[in-house]
Amino acid sequence: MNGFFPPVKKGREDKTMKRSRIWFDDGSIIIQAEDTQFCVHKSVILKHFPTLNDLVSSPQSSSNGCAIIKLSDSAKDWESLLTMIYDHLPTCKSTDLIPFRTLVAMLRLGDKYHGHSIREEALRFLRYEFPQDLDDWMDIWGTKIYPYPESEFDFINLADEIGLHSVLPAMYYTCIKYEKLKDIFYGHPNSDGSVMRLSSDVQACLVIGREKLAFALRKHTFSWLYNKKIIPCSRCSAKPECTAARNQLIRKVWMPVPNISLALDVWNRSEFASGLCSFCAYTAEKLFHSGQEKLWIELPSYFGLPSWDELENLDDPGSPSLS
Ligand SMILES: [Zn+2]
Repeated sequence: MNGFFPPVKKGREDKTMKRSRIWFDDGSIIIQAEDTQFCVHKSVILKHFPTLNDLVSSPQSSSNGCAIIKLSDSAKDWESLLTMIYDHLPTCKSTDLIPFRTLVAMLRLGDKYHGHSIREEALRFLRYEFPQDLDDWMDIWGTKIYPYPESEFDFINLADEIGLHSVLPAMYYTCIKYEKLKDIFYGHPNSDGSVMRLSSDVQACLVIGREKLAFALRKHTFSWLYNKKIIPCSRCSAKPECTAARNQLIRKVWMPVPNISLALDVWNRSEFASGLCSFCAYTAEKLFHSGQEKLWIELPSYFGLPSWDELENLDDPGSPSLS
């Protein structure tokens, strides 16, 4: 890692302890998580986690004048977080990308040790990926999380762990858009051989939501395809052609199965208005957008979740959880 000193022996070594590559020779405290020690700077750690001050002031042990702070967290979480603190604190407003592993560490440790700025920055990343507003959803231009987890299940389980509710509708929708039903029920096989599973409650939400979205496609996003008075529209300049184009699009959206990934997709003229005259295309686009606005308002309900406003209130610390 750039900027870090190479491992140098410091003081008495516990043979069962591993020294992390994050080891500053001029460090002033040693953080110990599981079987790993990190020699870092007290001022840097307390700046982000003032609540650790008590532990630093009265350490259980010390080594060469460095207080050893023994914590019950995972070594992986601390390694991810310290790497980020010392290398570069990513910010969501910039073009920074953030590894999923780091995002998890920021949320877990930021929450536990009251590292408010770290936690808030991590939440900004998460809310960017899974927004509460339709306009923000439409504005997403690629992910800011890289490496991305192997499945959307990781996000859902993370939101559950940290008690974040307002991201769930967009998260659930993204999940049913990309994940197979088989994986939703039996777990997603990761490349390291592990399997990421969802709780049975979440499985039920996703499957029911999937069915409701199929109906919402017809009720909202593509409502204009089912009313012969709308397409061809009153000003249509090519009624037979527009009727044929409408019938073709119906087949495209619903065959062989309803394509729910189109429910909240951006308007694509060449895909959705192919073969329509300019008047019908204009009408279709207008109703497509207004349909999506209605669908977005109803989105939480498809998954059995409370309204957007209620979900946001549940995010506040101290609020009761959904279950
Ligand atoms: Zn027309």
